[in-house]
Amino acid sequence: MSTERCPYCHDDIPNSEFSAHVREHEQLREDGQQNDYVTLPPEERSTQSLTDVPQVYVHTKCGTATGMPEEIIQSYLQNPYLYLADSTHCTGCERQVPNRECEWTETGENLQDYTDRLRREKPEFRPGIFTRLLAFVFTGNWVK
Ligand SMILES: [Zn+2]
Ligand SMILES: [Zn+2]
Repeated sequence: MSTERCPYCHDDIPNSEFSAHVREHEQLREDGQQNDYVTLPPEERSTQSLTDVPQVYVHTKCGTATGMPEEIIQSYLQNPYLYLADSTHCTGCERQVPNRECEWTETGENLQDYTDRLRREKPEFRPGIFTRLLAFVFTGNWVK
């Protein structure tokens, strides 16, 4: 039986059940946040200590602070190109908002500047033009 690894829970799922399984993860909760986000498999995530890594951001338009889940931080520290939409969930607005409108409470740095900086440090993860075009079609965000 052939299986595919789920990008959410990282279990091996039989191909015949794969799309139904993934749909379940992608169902929106009542607050507009997905049940789960795509992350890197645990063994591929960054093992860097999060002590000096910012983890709480404020959406400057509404002033609400939201915590970034650790497994997401460890995933984008490893691959800063994993989340190409350049938007993040705001618990105040209950929807995805542009990184550009958010600031880390710990450092005051803009989330988009932060993301761009991480990406500059790891150019080897920059996806090819085709992936970036696809991301643009789906999210309206052009990743340089
Ligand atoms: Zn799964
Ligand atoms: Zn907000």
